[in-house]
Amino acid sequence: MLELDTGGDGRPLRAAVLLDRDGVIIENRDNYVRSWADVSIYPQALEALARLHEAGYPVALVTNQSAVGRGLLSLAEARQINGRLVGAIERAGGRVEDVYMCPHAPDEGCNCRKPRPGLIWQAAEELGLDLSGSVLIGDALSDLEAGQRAGVGWTALVRTGRGAAEERRAAGPVRVYDTLSAAVEALLTGEVERQTD
Ligand SMILES: [Mg+2]
Ligand SMILES: [Zn+2]
Repeated sequence: MLELDTGGDGRPLRAAVLLDRDGVIIENRDNYVRSWADVSIYPQALEALARLHEAGYPVALVTNQSAVGRGLLSLAEARQINGRLVGAIERAGGRVEDVYMCPHAPDEGCNCRKPRPGLIWQAAEELGLDLSGSVLIGDALSDLEAGQRAGVGWTALVRTGRGAAEERRAAGPVRVYDTLSAAVEALLTGEVERQTD
């Protein structure tokens, strides 16, 4: 099916690494990340992002920020936090193609809040991604569910953020790594076969 191999504009589809933000790249906050002062970046995550860039993987962030929908910060403020985070990632040698954010509260019934797949499909369409060859890493089972529902070929949980607690309540087998760094190491060294789902 050749038409699956290119985007609508004829670009070849690319395998990418889709990353959750809170609990994967920065520390999770029980009371939400409301300002840059709440952002604490994991050093190992910065290194992992630099390694992904060196290896040629396009990276995008896919993040639920219901704090916006709950009125705890504005959409502009949330975007500003994302922008500053991307700046820090790029200064450390990484690259982020774009940040896809669901700003809605859970009761708004949107299609982009993970575990729904809409945010990932939006990223795939805009960035021209081959989702079956792509990777999604999150610290919540809902991240992995969103990836699987969207057709992402390889999903993994990290134990940072909410991940350790999420691992304990997993109903079935889940790929788990201690950190984003460990997950990226496994990915780049071919320790794991992608597209095994
Ligand atoms: Mg998270
Ligand atoms: Zn949404």
